[in-house]
Amino acid sequence: MSDAKIPLSGVIGCPIAHSKSPLIHNHWLQKYGIKGHYVPMHVELDDLEATLRQMPKMGFVGANVTLPHKEAVMKIADRVTDRAKLIGAANTLIFREDGSIVADNTDGYGFIFNLHQQVPDWDPKAAPSTVIGAGGASRAVVASLLEAGVPEIRITNRTKARAEKFRQEFGKRITVVDWVEAGLYIDDAGLIVNTTSLGMDGQKRLRVPMDGLHAGVIVYDLVYTPLKTELIKKAESAGCTVIDGLGMLLHQAVPGFERWFGHTPEVDEATRQASLV
Ligand code: NAP
Repeated sequence: MSDAKIPLSGVIGCPIAHSKSPLIHNHWLQKYGIKGHYVPMHVELDDLEATLRQMPKMGFVGANVTLPHKEAVMKIADRVTDRAKLIGAANTLIFREDGSIVADNTDGYGFIFNLHQQVPDWDPKAAPSTVIGAGGASRAVVASLLEAGVPEIRITNRTKARAEKFRQEFGKRITVVDWVEAGLYIDDAGLIVNTTSLGMDGQKRLRVPMDGLHAGVIVYDLVYTPLKTELIKKAESAGCTVIDGLGMLLHQAVPGFERWFGHTPEVDEATRQASLV
């Protein structure tokens, strides 16, 4: 029997049963004939540090992290990348040979890579963007839009103070818009992104008025259950270019897989289908 190490990875959260990450990574492991395993792991906060310290000794080369541990792992990690620091949360861990833990965030990468892939002629500098929501996912989206060169980002959030914090942290290209006035900032935006959980199965509807939607605008909804949210349907009927949340989810998985299993996976229609099982 060979004693070559079989790389292990997985996703840590609680609850974890809903996670699509095992479907995505196991699809790629099978597609590329890689001997490795990716498993869902239910870990409570009290056990998080002990679990993470034990994992490298058990053959784990890294892990994804999901709610509610995305912030807690930053305090445990031995090194936190600049982009994870900027976003304030980590979703991808790399365990180095010596057992030390590197925490990274690939959500912004997944968001922007998917946007460029879906709309290759998108010009970030051409118009302001409107971002609805100011939670963790929004931070990743805003950081990546600023890096892409968007001249102005209008942020609207139910809890205005959270949006105002963005202005303090990300600077003067951020404009804070009142939640009740958000509908007024739709018609001249080149890109509109919903980063709230509104519109998701089991959550309330997104009530921001979208009467100003028109052809030429890109509407990107981070929600992926359902794939066709009410926002996406409205945008489609107004002639907008629409992007659902699944592409971002698939692309954010790429850097981790590449690092752990040594192969750059392709995000294609088969990957989408595998994640929808
Ligand atoms: P989060 O940090 O908890 O932020 C939630 C956001 O939704 C906040 O802006 C919050 O506003 C807003 N919100 C929640 N309930 C609301 C309500 N009833 N009325 C108005 N606003 C409400 O969560 P997150 O991690 O950013 O995730 C947000 C969404 O993005 C989720 O649906 C998640 O599944 C999705 N997501 C998708 C991807 C992907 O790859 N496609 C990646 C990450 C996240 P307040 O600040 O006022 O509470």
